[in-house]
Order: sequence, then C-alpha cells, then structure tokens
Amino acid sequence: MGWVRSLAGPLELEARRGYTDVAVIGMSIGAYAREWARRAGEAVGAAHCDEICRALADYGACDARGREKRASEALRLLGSLDGGARQTERRGLVTEVPRQRQALRQQATEATEPRDGRGKPLPNDGGVVSGLEVPERQNELKRLGTDSTSPRLRGAGVPRQPAGLLDAPVGGERKSPPAWTKRVALLGIETNRDLLYYFPRDYVPLKTLSELADGERAAVVVEAVEREESVVREGRGFRLMRFALDVTDGTGRAWVTSIARVPRRGARAAAIMGSPLALNYEPGTRLLIEGTVKRAGRFIEISYAGSERAEMSESLAPGRLLPIYPLTDGVYQNHIRPGVRRLLAELPDDLPDPLPLSLRERHGLLPLSQALRDMHLPPSEEAKNAATRRLAFEELLTLQAALAQRKREQQQPGTGIAMRPRGDLVAILEEVLPFSLTRAQQRVISEIIADMSSDQAMYRLLQGDVGSGKTVVAAAALMVALQNGYQGALMAPTELLAEQHYLVLSKMLEPLGVQVELLTGSMRAQERQRALHRVATGHAQVVVGTHALIQEAVEFHQLGLVVVDEQHRFGVRQRASLRSKGRQPDTLVMTATPIPRTLALTLYGDLEISVLDEMPPGRQTINTSWLSLSHQREAYEFVRGQVSAGRQAYIVCPLIEESENLQAEAATKLAEHLQQEVFADLRVGLLHGGMKVAEKGSAMEAFRSGELQVLTTTTVIEVGVDVPNATVMLIVNAERFGLAQLHQLRGRVGRGAHESHCILLSDRRHDPTGRITPAGDETLEGVRRRLRVMIQESDGFKIAEEDLLLRGPGEFYGTRQHGLPDFRLARMARELGVLEEAREAAFWLVERDPELCAQEHGALRQQVAALRARMDSVAG
Ligand code: ADP
Ligand code: MG
Repeated sequence: MGWVRSLAGPLELEARRGYTDVAVIGMSIGAYAREWARRAGEAVGAAHCDEICRALADYGACDARGREKRASEALRLLGSLDGGARQTERRGLVTEVPRQRQALRQQATEATEPRDGRGKPLPNDGGVVSGLEVPERQNELKRLGTDSTSPRLRGAGVPRQPAGLLDAPVGGERKSPPAWTKRVALLGIETNRDLLYYFPRDYVPLKTLSELADGERAAVVVEAVEREESVVREGRGFRLMRFALDVTDGTGRAWVTSIARVPRRGARAAAIMGSPLALNYEPGTRLLIEGTVKRAGRFIEISYAGSERAEMSESLAPGRLLPIYPLTDGVYQNHIRPGVRRLLAELPDDLPDPLPLSLRERHGLLPLSQALRDMHLPPSEEAKNAATRRLAFEELLTLQAALAQRKREQQQPGTGIAMRPRGDLVAILEEVLPFSLTRAQQRVISEIIADMSSDQAMYRLLQGDVGSGKTVVAAAALMVALQNGYQGALMAPTELLAEQHYLVLSKMLEPLGVQVELLTGSMRAQERQRALHRVATGHAQVVVGTHALIQEAVEFHQLGLVVVDEQHRFGVRQRASLRSKGRQPDTLVMTATPIPRTLALTLYGDLEISVLDEMPPGRQTINTSWLSLSHQREAYEFVRGQVSAGRQAYIVCPLIEESENLQAEAATKLAEHLQQEVFADLRVGLLHGGMKVAEKGSAMEAFRSGELQVLTTTTVIEVGVDVPNATVMLIVNAERFGLAQLHQLRGRVGRGAHESHCILLSDRRHDPTGRITPAGDETLEGVRRRLRVMIQESDGFKIAEEDLLLRGPGEFYGTRQHGLPDFRLARMARELGVLEEAREAAFWLVERDPELCAQEHGALRQQVAALRARMDSVAG
C-alpha cells in the first residue's frame, strides 16, 4: 500500500505550490503528518513515523524557507524508509513474499518517471517517489526553483501558477478585503477555488425588454435613465415610499419599481435610502435587474427583486442564464455574482485539469475552465448541462478512483484464503431450519460461496430489507469458514442485537456441532476471560459480539470470516480492526438500510453487492395508520384488542435524541403511565438503552416468552429484535422520527403468521387530515410528507429513495463513515447518467495505472489522494 506515497504526495505538491501549506485540503501539513503517522505507524514502524512527524511538527508556523527544509527532511526520511516499509507492510505473508516482491519490482520498473519529448524526466506531477528517487528529485526541485511560476518550469510545459490564483483568498490578497468577502465567508467560501466550486442552485434567463412576457420572472441588463420617488402613504413615524427607475436596453423601455417602508429619520432610514432597493442609480449606469414582469402592450413594469451594477465588459448578453446561488441569512446574490464574474474573466484557459485530455475526449467532456465558466454563466441550457456533466463526472471519477484503489489494495489475488464448501449448504441448513430458503437467499449464498472459494479476500455487502432473512445467509457463510477449519466472527452494533444473534445462531449451528460464543462489553471479568480463552484456542468456532470483539485482548486462533451486521452503524476503521484479527479474512457486511443502487455505488464502490430482494413467504404487508395524538385512546383500545386475542405490542415512546438520560426517563414515565392508567390489567414491561444489560436481557426474554404483553420501549429495538407474536407497533410522536427509523421500527412486527399493524401517533399540528396544519408551513408540511410516505409505501427501497430526496445524502447517512462531498453535483447528474460512466472510467484508469503516476494523471492523483486522506481520517 502507498503509505510512503500518501505523505510524499502532499509534500511534493507543497514544493510545487511554493510551500504555502495548502497541499492537504483543510489541514496543515503538520496535522496531516500526525494523522498519517497514526495510520501508517503499524505498517511503517512507529519510530520512523515519529521521526517524520517531528520533522514536520511546526510546519504551519514556519516561513517558506523553513517549510522547504522540513519538507526535504521528511522526504529524505521517507525515502530511506521506503524499501523497508514495503517488507513490513507485507509481513506475515511468509509464503507470498517472494512472488509479491517480484511483482513489486516489476511494477517499479514499469512505472518510470514520466518523460518529456526529449526523454528528460519531467519535474512536475506524476513522479513516483521511491527510496532511490527521492534525493534526486529533491535536487532537481532545488535546481529548478520551487516557485512554480519560474520561467524554467513554464518552459517545461507546466501550467502557469493557476494554483496561486485558485488558492488565493477571494477578493485578492489585500489588507482590507472587500465587504462582500465577509458575507460569502458565511457560506464557507474563503478561496477563489471555493467560490468557483460554489455552484448555482438554479438559473433565470437573461432577456431583452422586448422579449418579456406578462407574469414571468426574469432578469434583464439595462441602462438607468431616470429615477422617481413618491410617498404612497404617510404613517406614524414612517412613510411608505415607491421608487421607480426608467430603464432601457435598446429594444424597449420599462419601469423598475420597488416599495419600501422608510422611517422618517435615523440610520435605518439612511440605510434604506442608500440600498439598491431605493434604486438610487445614476443615469447611464449599466444594471442587472431581476424581478417579476407586468406587461400590457408596450408598457412594462418590473417589480424589483434584486439589482446589481454590471460592468460594460461583462458578458451578460441576452440568452444567457443568470445563476441563482444557494444563500443563507444576510448573504445576497449580489455578494456572490460580481465576484464570480470577475474571477471567471481572469481564469486562464489552461487551468490544470484533473481529467486528462484523452479521457475528456473519450467521454466528450469540457475542459475545466470552460466548464466552470458555463456552470456559472451558461450561454444556453445545453452549455449548462454540458458543464454540469463535466463537473459531476470529475467529482464522481475522483471518488470512484479512490474506491477503485482501495478495492485493488484489498483484493490482491493470492492474498486471501480459499475456502470451499463441503456438501450442499442449503440442504444442510434446511434440515435444521423450520422453513426452506427463498430463492434470493440461495442466490446470495452461492455468490458468497464463489467469493469465499477464491484466493482473493471477499469484500461483499449484503443488502436486504428488514426481515428479508440475512441471518441465515450469514450462517451459511460462517459454515463455509468452519468447514475449512477457520473461525467466524459476527459483530453487531448493540448488545441486544448481539445476544439475539447469539441465540439464533446457537440454535441453528449447535445441532451441527458448532460451538458459538458470545462476547460483549458487559460480561463479568471471569466469564469474559473464559470466553477469550475459548476464542484464542479455537474451541469457540463462531464468536458473536459487539464492539468488544475489536478490543486488543481478543485474539483468534484462526479467523477466516468476518460478518458485520448493520454495517452503517460502524465505521470503516472498526470493520478494518476486526479484519486485522485474522490474516486477510473474508468479509461480509450486512445492512437493512436499503440503499438505492446509484448511492450504493457511490458509498460502497469498493465492495461487491448482493441484494436479498425477496421476502420469505407469508409475510403480510403491515397495516399502517396515522392518527392525531388526540385519538390515542382509540389506539390503546386497539392494542388491548390485539392483546386479548393473544398477541403482543410494542409502544415506542417519543424520541429524545439529545440525551440518553432524558430518553430513559421519558420511557420509564410512559411505562408507568401505561401500566397504572391505561393497561392496569395487562402486563407492561420496559426496555430502554440506559438499562443494565442484564435488565435489558430479562425484559427482552420476558417479552419473547409472552410473559409481558406490552413492551414500552425506545429505538433500542430498532434493529434485529425478532418476536413473531408481536403484532402491533405503536409509535408515539411519530413525527420526531426519521423515515428510515420508522421503517425499521415497523419491521419489528409482521414477523409471524398474524396480521400486523403499525400505528403512527402524531402531534395534532400534523393532523393527518390536513385541516389543522396551516397551509405553507414548510416544516409541518415536511413532517406530513414523511408520515404519508409511511402510509403509502412498504418497500424499504422506495422509502429510502424518498428519504434521500427529503433529506439529502449527507443527513441520510451521516458523514461519519465517509467524509465525502455533499454530492450536490452527483445528484444533479443522476438524470444525466454520469455515475456509471464515471465509475467505469475510474476503474479502467486504476486498472491501467493503479497509483495514477502517469504524468497526465498528476492532477487527478493529488485530488484522489486528498479525498482518500479525508475518507480515512473521518471513517470510524
Ligand atoms: P433480517 O434480514 O432483518 O436480519 P432475519 O434474518 O432476522 O432478518 O429474519 C427475519 C425472520 O425471518 C426470522 O424470524 C427468520 O427466522 C425468518 N426467516 C428467514 N428466512 C426465512 C425463510 N426463507 N422462510 C421463512 N422465514 C424465514
Ligand atoms: Mg438482522
């Protein structure tokens, strides 16, 4: 793996950018090195890492010369280490080493320094740093001067100082930056690059006055002729004033009008009279006006919605689209637009492009500078689409290339364990199970068997809606490992779920002579010690547990398969640390959060994907109803009816996300209320996340055995809990839950033979009839949309799609695992069908040039490395 590269890359970039500490986005080199050392420590050796880290510790605080010295020193240390690190990284693979070394050597000779036409190594991008080359490169950099604008570099065909322009602060390097820069900082825009990559959310067409139609919203570029102001009404302490500006553009004339309530005196009055709203423009000023058009024949009035001064030189010809940027409080379009336009005018045509020319040609993509221009100020709808496509392609290609590299590193042939099944697994399982497997389960099992049989490590994601029967599939995979003399581990996010899996798997596998062990954080020391011993000696063949599995004390005899349930609750790093307990074990991660295919490729592009797209037979759809809280009595009566018919019910208490204590308290109160006042004659239990493990276990057991009829609970039962006799899921204040949560909760019922029900109780403001909700209240409307989706949809995939649309991917998944961009472009590009194309291109590229070291991949390599660093550091 490229540990050396991952630090050498940024350091080289620093050299090219004149040691401005910009190589790692959002982080100083010093901090990046610490992060790097933490990750690389094991592979490279902690002492070396420390030394390198020390060399760079005060990087941010140094001047350029100091930084140069530190970077060279770090590169030297990295160079001396490179050869050794390769061996250490692969230690443990004793038998494989000779073959690997040979392959490495071959790789190294193939990937020679990029050369220019005269056969001299080029100084820029795409260099391979290996131990031998570092000192040489250092000298070369010195000889050439590190300033990338130096004439020699320019001669060598290196793009002119674009980095300088893009990384400069918006508004230029000035003592007192223009006022608008403070406003756009509120949007996170600090550098020119930030500004250029801050894309419009919409556009309005620029028109001539003669083209305007009655009622439309439009933008025009005009010249001010004459201004009038009049008082519409005299109020107490204020005047209602009307401003009108006569404007022309050569095709016609129009009045731009606005109305303002102006205090009679004071600073506020002056501020309004001096603001664009007062239309105080000198005759002859060139203006960009936006507004709503009223037209009767040749008489045109535009009611003012915004205006800016426009320079004569600016390309604001009619027919262009005017960008509308997403804003926040106190930031207006005219804080962003003029700056963008000025910057676009300065933009060189040969901006270094992360997409190499050959690739752009193959996929019909615009060069970067043109794409940026057309994104912000498109001459036409087509130009805008082409620009969107190009920029989305770049975003996705970068991500997919990062994933492709990761996948390649994970799946070196010959490094995994080849495990072959003995006998017909499906038949063996069906013998111990009271049901036969669905076709989907059989298909997925054979996909897994194929992976496990190969000598590449398996990395597979199993997606299946709640209740689709993933546990059986996991059991089959575990059996393959056991048949080959390996152990299997299954990690679950909560103790409750771990215990549940333990029970199910013991029941399934113990008849086949398999020892299953449970390992959780709350076990008593002695008990735990014994369990650890059984795992370390190999007496326990399957180990089920929580995060406790990844603690240091846990050692396996011979771990061959890792299964992670509810994958989205874990980070990449946790997955990796469980894997590190074995020697390249196969890995199966499972998730019940259905992921639309497009997003699955985006988020899990480094995994193979299997889908359980069929429910076990006999599952009924769950009757879902939605009542206002004022009808809760009816809901409780319904519960009583079900209980007297012998069924059981969950009652989920309102979600309090802010505090586990408050949540526990709320659940306890609700349970008391239910037991004492509502269901005095029934047996009501309580289960919440704050309870001790033993208490949780016994509550769950009491509910499972039917001793408890009603279980008052929280989202702790969201995942995995399986009590087939429970037929009612009553959710109080359902409006506080997200769609995914509601779907998971609903999935707890409908698991047996009986008809099942989900009742959503919501605050009366979200009254399902819609009579009480004030029209136009967006948050209330949002809640009602969400609850309506629950009523109308039972398919988890559709619900996930809706969720995605309602919340956007960032919130949908949290950024915890990925640290990825917000995919705004990717979303736009969904309709443009870019994702698959970019994915293929990225995998193709990485197959041919795994480390992206060809010269034409230089800019892309930097971008991918930065993203990977971000993904790795956020993960976990
Ligand atoms: P999930 O995918 O949500 O983890 P589980 O593995 O917990 O689903 O399975 C849900 C329920 O369906 C369990 O009670 C399980 O025994 C049952 N089940 C699984 N596969 C089948 C099948 N092929 N036929 C009938 N019931 C099944
Ligand atoms: Mg499950």
